[in-house]
This record gives sequence, C-alpha cells and structure tokens, in this order.
Amino acid sequence: MQLWRTLADETLVAEAREFARTHVAPVAAKLDREDLYPLDLVRLTSDHGWNAMTLPATYGGGGRPMTDLLAVMEELSVHSPILGISLITIFQSQKCIEMYGQESLKRRYLPHYADGLPASFALTEDGHGSDIRYLDTKARPSDGGWVLSGEKAFITSGAAAELFVVLAETEHGVSTFAVPKDAAGVSTYEGEHAETFGLRNGPHVNLVLDDVEVPEDHLIGTEGRGLKQVMVTLANSRTLAAGISLGIARAAFEDALGYVNERTAFGTTVLDFQGIQWYFSQLAAEIDAARLLTYEAARDLDAGRDIARSSSEAKMLAASLATRVAATAVQVCGAHGTRESQPFGRYLRDAKAYEVAGGSAEVLKNTVAKTLVKAVRAKED
Ligand SMILES: Cc1cc2nc3c(=O)[nH]c(=O)nc-3n(C[C@H](O)[C@H](O)[C@H](O)COP(=O)(O)OP(=O)(O)OC[C@H]3O[C@@H](n4cnc5c(N)ncnc54)[C@H](O)[C@@H]3O)c2cc1C
Repeated sequence: MQLWRTLADETLVAEAREFARTHVAPVAAKLDREDLYPLDLVRLTSDHGWNAMTLPATYGGGGRPMTDLLAVMEELSVHSPILGISLITIFQSQKCIEMYGQESLKRRYLPHYADGLPASFALTEDGHGSDIRYLDTKARPSDGGWVLSGEKAFITSGAAAELFVVLAETEHGVSTFAVPKDAAGVSTYEGEHAETFGLRNGPHVNLVLDDVEVPEDHLIGTEGRGLKQVMVTLANSRTLAAGISLGIARAAFEDALGYVNERTAFGTTVLDFQGIQWYFSQLAAEIDAARLLTYEAARDLDAGRDIARSSSEAKMLAASLATRVAATAVQVCGAHGTRESQPFGRYLRDAKAYEVAGGSAEVLKNTVAKTLVKAVRAKED
C-alpha cells in the first residue's frame, strides 16, 4: 500500500523503507515491551551514513540536507519511533557541537558519530523541565577547564550514551558542555522517571555529575549563551521529531485501514461504512497537510530561513495528529484495536508521549505566539 507522496530523494526513501521493513519491523514490539536501547540498529544505521547524515564531510558526515534526514526518520519511525528517538538524541548532541563548538572539540567528537556513537542531550532536571533558564546543575571554571556538579533527569538514550551534551548553570547564565561518559565522576542510574509508557528506548536515566572535570574546550560556544544554543538546536530537531510523529501516524492509519478492509459486519466490510470512511478521509487530509508543513520546515532549515515558527508548528501539529490517528485506529478496529498483541496501543502510547517530550504542545504554542505577536507589533510600528 503506497498512500503517501515521496517528498525527498526517492532512492533514499526507498532505501530507508526497505531497511525499516527488514531490520526494524521484526524487533519493534520487543524493543517497546522490554524497554531496550536499539544499539544494534543504531550501528546498522551508521553503516548507511544516517547517524552523521547532515554533518559536513570534514567531520565524516554525509553533508546531506535536513530534508533527507527527515525522510529517513519518518520511514524508520513507521516501524519504530524508538529508533527515531535514538537517532534524534544523536542528532541533537552533534548539531549543538557542530554549530557552536570550538574546532578542537568538533575534531575530537564529531567524526565518531559516523561510526555509530550513541549520545544524549541532557537539559531536564527534577526541578526544571519546560523552564530551564535556571538550573541546579552548576559548572565552575577550574585550572584549564570546568567542573560540573548536579543531576539531570529523564535522559533519553542515556542507558547507552557515550557522550552527553549537558546544560549547566555558570556564573554568567546557563551554558552547554560536552561530557564524555568515561570522565571521572560521571554515573547514571534508573530513577523514578526511568520508565515511561511511550518512547521507551531503554530506561530514561538520571545523569549524575559529581565534580566532573572537563577541558576548557568542552564548554560548547559562549558561556551564558546556552539557552539560545539549546533553543536553536531544538528548533532543528523538532522537524525530525515531527517526522517521527508522522511515522507513527502513518503506521496507525495503514494498519487500521488494512484491518477494516478485511473485517466484516452487517454483511459488508467495515471499510464500506461511510461513517468509517469519513474518519480515514479526514485523517488522510490531515496527514498530507502535516507532512507538507514538516517538509517545508526542513526546507526552511536547508535554505537558512528562520524556523522558530515552522518547526514548532510542524511538531505541534504532527504530534497531536499522531495521537488522534492512533486513537481513531483503536476505535475503528474495535476490540481487535485494544489487544496487547496488536500494535495500536503502542502507537497511542508513543504518539502521546511525543506531545510532551522534545517541546510540549504548550511550549511550542508559546513559540509560535511569540512570532505572531512580534509580527503584528512590527506592523503597528
Ligand atoms: C519520553 C520522554 C523523553 C524525554 N527525553 C528527554 C531528554 O532526552 N533530555 C531531556 O533533557 N529531557 C527529556 N525529557 C523531559 C522533557 O523535555 C520535559 O518533560 C519537558 O520539557 C516538560 O517538562 P516537565 O515534564 O517538567 O513539565 P513542566 O515544565 O512541569 O510543565 C507541566 C505542564 O505545564 C505546561 N507549561 C509549562 N510551562 C508553560 C508555559 N510557559 N505556558 C503554558 N504551559 C506551560 C507544560 O507544557 C506541561 O503541560 C523527556 C520527557 C519524556 C516524556
């Protein structure tokens, strides 16, 4: 069944689709059920060049546009968003270093992404989620470097990460740091946030930084500019997050459509009821629209245009749409949709979790609203 337009390089989309069918589909339910980090898959995707796809060739990357990476994320996530979020934390950490890191830091870490380096992006703390302007994790200058202490919570991919990009507060505001897993004083544990009902790519760890010393060049960018750097990094990754949600939406839609086409009631297939067809018509239109918006946001990135509005709109719409598609899929499949042996509950859990993770719907609406307020006030001036 080919229901959706190809919106990026056709050869690449076909390659990602085939990879997902062969390698991801067979393990998707197990990864979710057992809450596993898909390390083997992450190594395999690196063989295809997808882990460092948008990095410049100088750092071992593919130098490809975001539109291509978005297409890969979408196709992989049709079978498992768990692989998608594992690649997104890899992308976030490398993008932050690529955009803001000193040359020595870039040369030290960026080439390892092409070899499958697992990595995490660690912003959240027990006391600070949406509001990360102030943090309990602190960093202070030391002889030739920085010392970090504190604790991060809810860290995706943290069970396997070998490198963490960490937000910590310094004298001049919040700042970002590269922290390798093997630095003295770094440890992780599974705290009370470890298990989520969706997006389960291994337990979300608490990252403990116990007077961890890192060299001077492990401060990423400018001290005190961490919030801005993180916001730009997240604006980049939100287009990919939208792609992951679209993958979930497509999977739920296609599985439900296939089921109602076979299921009979009152002497006809369930798909023949107009009331059921209308669900699918409405959702097909919305998936088409959300995909166009998301690919447009990626094209904005590739063209160097401002993406605060487009990437926030894309994630906001795609995430809530995925939840509605998954809920409708359960509904039209009847009792079959509620069976644990079927993937519909997993679609619903993953879709809902992504309305919170990586920028909650409310925070994204705030970002969009800011651009609107700015525009209308600029017009008044
Ligand atoms: C599956 C999953 C994976 C995650 N992975 C990571 C990770 O890898 N790294 C990481 O650092 N963090 C991660 N997080 C944490 C995530 O980033 C935070 O959960 C998110 O930022 C929201 O913070 P919070 O949960 O503390 O909610 P709170 O900040 O307590 O917010 C509670 C509610 O209030 C709303 N709200 C907050 N501020 C405003 C406002 N100004 N206006 C309107 N509404 C507002 C929120 O949207 C939310 O609905 C993950 C979370 C989940 C669920």
